[in-house]
Amino acid sequence: MREPDEKDALTLVLDELIELSALKVGLDHIRHDHERTTAEQIKISQIPSPSFSEDQRGQYFLDRFYELGLTDIHRDAVGNVLGLRSGSGTEAARRDRLTLIVSAHLDTVFPAATDVSVQVRDGRLYGPGIADDGRGLAVLPALIGAMDAAAVETMADVWFVATVGEEGTGDLRGVKHLFANPEFVIDGFLSIEPGPANNITYLATGSHRLRVTYTGPGGHSFGNFGTPSAIHALGRAIARIAEVSVPESPKTTFTVGVIEGGTSVNTIAAKASMLLDLRSNSDLHLAHLEDEITQLLYSAADEENDRWNSHKVEVGIEPIGHRPSGSQASDSPIVRAAVATARAVGCVPHLDDAQSTDANVAISLGIPAVTLGGGGEAGGVHTLGEFFDTRDAYVGVQRLYMMIILLAGLQQHNAPVLRKRISEPAL
Ligand SMILES: [Zn+2]
Repeated sequence: MREPDEKDALTLVLDELIELSALKVGLDHIRHDHERTTAEQIKISQIPSPSFSEDQRGQYFLDRFYELGLTDIHRDAVGNVLGLRSGSGTEAARRDRLTLIVSAHLDTVFPAATDVSVQVRDGRLYGPGIADDGRGLAVLPALIGAMDAAAVETMADVWFVATVGEEGTGDLRGVKHLFANPEFVIDGFLSIEPGPANNITYLATGSHRLRVTYTGPGGHSFGNFGTPSAIHALGRAIARIAEVSVPESPKTTFTVGVIEGGTSVNTIAAKASMLLDLRSNSDLHLAHLEDEITQLLYSAADEENDRWNSHKVEVGIEPIGHRPSGSQASDSPIVRAAVATARAVGCVPHLDDAQSTDANVAISLGIPAVTLGGGGEAGGVHTLGEFFDTRDAYVGVQRLYMMIILLAGLQQHNAPVLRKRISEPAL
């Protein structure tokens, strides 16, 4: 007889588990809980939560985790909200248990003044942040409720975590903090983002972000003509950057996203700055790109100074963001589990291109991690026209539920897909 490979093995495990009440009751509960989950998604999304101001939404999760009976509930030093659903076995055995994190991010890209009220039109929910990550956040209580309804006893400890700082300048500060704690050994990481039930993000795009500022003496446009200009230097730099060649694979990109500077139309600019975003699916290529662009930035200042026989324009380069990149095999156990669970809910699994998500940090450290869709359909993400279509969205929750059971294991039924980590990588 042929030994089934691991993917087949996980599908077989699911085929068997599906007959268990732990699965049946949980999956039914999730379907019946659909309306309540949607209502909670609206409620959460209407709590403003820009990156660095996630307190109010964090408080909501502290309260919810208490209501749901999690233990060890706390807000950590950076604002992540954590609650534990203990694995089977005694408290003393805790150290030997696996630790799985199931997370969604609290923050949105929208400033505090944004109207985040949710409108329902044509069967869709409209509102900034309703999908990203209102969906992921609403799925956390839905999963806990289903596990309780089905009296699921996982072998691993499952920590539910609402993270801070996933978006933009948040720079993954929430997850960076989680993984920087040597006392908290994490064996697997699951992040929930808007997306259909078949989506699997398992590769991490890294990014470096820089604020580049040119400064000079400035002066009157006529009276001080001949003085080097900070804006002219910035212009030279942008023209050079625009010509940089990058590999298509591993995908490596750059953009000048924001420029500002100058005083008035008839002033030689004393200051001009830009925000640069550099990304790659390979840390090596990212470092290479950053080196190349850094040299261009200095040459642009030299060129502007040489033009006027001066040395007064200077450039300052300030890193404002760093997200690590990383990859794992498409046939690694956690990815196979994601594939098997997508199939189990009747979807065709989709292995997505590399993304920048909360899972980046774990992936870069070699810890099994994926970002999966919370179900439903999202659009206009990061715009004021963001929407979420709830049709069959519960399928995404059912898939995540099975994912937790595969990763964390069920006493006497299936061994966890996760393995205890031996060494503790530190950031
Ligand atoms: Zn997101």
